[in-house]
Amino acid sequence: MYRLIPKMDDLLSNEDIKALEMEYPVGLVRDFINLELQNIRSSIKDGKNKEFILAKIENIPNEVRNNLANYLKPQLKRVVNATGTVIHTNLGRSLINEEMAEEMVDILVHYSNLEYDLEKGVRGSRYQHIEELIKDITGAEAALVVNNNAAAVLLVLSTFAEGGEAIISRGELIEIGGSFRIPDVMEYSGCTLHEVGTTNKTHLKDYENAINENTKVMLKVHTSNYKVVGFTDAVSNTELKELSVKTGVPLIEDLGSGVLVDLEDYGLDHEPTVQESIRSGIDIVTFSGDKLLGGPQAGIIIGKKEMIDKLKKNQLTRALRVDKMTLKLLEEVLKVYFDKNSVADKIPTLNMITKKTEDIKNHAQELKEKIDNLNLNFTCEIVKDYSEVGGGSLPTEKLETYVLEINSKEFSEDKIDKFMHECELPVVGRISDKKYIIDPRTLLSGDDDIIINNLRKLGEKI
Ligand SMILES: *Cc1c(COP(=O)(O)O)cnc(C)c1O
Repeated sequence: MYRLIPKMDDLLSNEDIKALEMEYPVGLVRDFINLELQNIRSSIKDGKNKEFILAKIENIPNEVRNNLANYLKPQLKRVVNATGTVIHTNLGRSLINEEMAEEMVDILVHYSNLEYDLEKGVRGSRYQHIEELIKDITGAEAALVVNNNAAAVLLVLSTFAEGGEAIISRGELIEIGGSFRIPDVMEYSGCTLHEVGTTNKTHLKDYENAINENTKVMLKVHTSNYKVVGFTDAVSNTELKELSVKTGVPLIEDLGSGVLVDLEDYGLDHEPTVQESIRSGIDIVTFSGDKLLGGPQAGIIIGKKEMIDKLKKNQLTRALRVDKMTLKLLEEVLKVYFDKNSVADKIPTLNMITKKTEDIKNHAQELKEKIDNLNLNFTCEIVKDYSEVGGGSLPTEKLETYVLEINSKEFSEDKIDKFMHECELPVVGRISDKKYIIDPRTLLSGDDDIIINNLRKLGEKI
């Protein structure tokens, strides 16, 4: 039976396989043929009959074609976020609107002045274009952009605190999802942690008493993903600034989510803004590009020119540098902030966070009607619930929303969820209280149709 198995060379001259070689890399085609031959050998070993083996051999080109197509189908792909969590780190955090994405594509498919000074005709700096913009919007003296905020914190500490001590309050030793822990990053950057105060209370005198000849910086970390409430006390930026001036120890703040607008204007809790930090005199402030700012993944570092210049000279900056896609997207997103009135229209993250509950309810109603019209035994209820900002931002902010609870006699909530994940266009909803839930807050135009189509496919399976 083993003699029935065709030779690789014979297969490669088969017309159907030759056609595959025109479409796919030859090496890959060979790999998949080998896999198929392996398969056939196993079948023989398992005692399959001749008829079965001959059919399998006949089917090699088809099988290889299917496997190749499967192997090369998009792996990283679009999904529908029906969780209601706006800055969903697992689903790609902040979205960019289509116009801005097009501007980026233009830079991607053409050459650009990324590091070229068109005026002088000499090499320029890749940060020059974005730096002016960040300075104008934040009021800082200088700015630098790196891969993400974790990189920003690492770079800042390695530059200013290596070999010395960084003072930090015990109430701010935070962990962010994905095992980014402030104490670990501090150690990795070569500085020693000097913890002061307690979990709930830290006083100015704690910082004062901690300063010694080895002190390099004081670090403030915005506890963006949790809140200590009750009997608490933290030292204000202004007080720390005074201490910093008196002692000459630089003051650094990791602001995390980095809002550039006052969220109170939209009826949300006040979240310290980047501009406030700069106004209070912090020397260096770092924040993420893809959290509340609503841009691409990036770590933005702003502050005193003299210190930013030092950062630019650190070799680590080269390793943490951002590419042109990030720079272009960031430029487009930042420009929107010059017009406070259109920010919530043009930046999807802010748009979703500030959606009116009434509008979400209407959207839920429309979606319910479409699901009811399927006539496929799904029952649908609209209930009041809460969505989350996500991304470790505004942890205590409960955004009022109206969700759809979808029930089915045939399918459990887990079955529905699993099916929705496995569709060509996957939908990620959530399960709560044994119900499958869709929160319209994070749905984009076109997402309703995808949800309906997927539910139709599921309903028709019975
Ligand atoms: C999110 C966050 C970080 C990490 O930022 P990334 O952009 O995800 O690297 C660091 N510090 C704080 C306070 C954060 O909230």
